[in-house]
Amino acid sequence: MDLPDFLIRRYKDWKDNNFPSEIGLLKSLAEEGQKPKAMIISCCDSRVDANKIFNTNVGEFFIHRNVANLVPPINKNETNCETLSSIEYALKSLKISNIIILGHSGCGGINFAYKKFTKKNDQTSFLDKWIEIVEPAYNKINNTNLNNEDEATSLLEKTSIVNSIYNLENYPFVNDLILKNKLNIYGLWFDIGSGNIEYLNRQSNKFEKLNYL
Ligand SMILES: [Zn+2]
Repeated sequence: MDLPDFLIRRYKDWKDNNFPSEIGLLKSLAEEGQKPKAMIISCCDSRVDANKIFNTNVGEFFIHRNVANLVPPINKNETNCETLSSIEYALKSLKISNIIILGHSGCGGINFAYKKFTKKNDQTSFLDKWIEIVEPAYNKINNTNLNNEDEATSLLEKTSIVNSIYNLENYPFVNDLILKNKLNIYGLWFDIGSGNIEYLNRQSNKFEKLNYL
């Protein structure tokens, strides 16, 4: 078999040890279909795993991942229809009523964008094109006094989440559901090293630490 050893070993481990306790849930999901509680738009980063962070079972989250957890603006959607097609499916077919944009610390995609817009990076690539979505967020932080690149990247990660929410809410089929109180949109930022989460306060438009009892 050509598959790498680690894949086969990990699969065997899951099938032998985890699958027996999940078989009931998987069978009912297979028979009845999925009814996820929320759609998560998260980064491809291997360190950010929404199912682990929220301790969810199979079938609870409908997850779309792309570099830097971005939602393209409506005028760029014709060339970026992957993200919008998953949002459309989530809202129109699965009738999901919560969308969470999950950003994170140390985002390579956002750092790439920061370097691009500060002209420290002149690469031409698919990523270069995709990351243009971050430009309005960069323009917002451009004149902010920041001590170093890490601080700028961190602020850009959060500002970009706000920008993606703005983009998302501008799609008529999304806006329509919001006006009918059928859809809630949330922005979260996950700090990988500490495991802490900050959420976007929609009134103040600022990120605040998520506290719980
Ligand atoms: Zn990332």
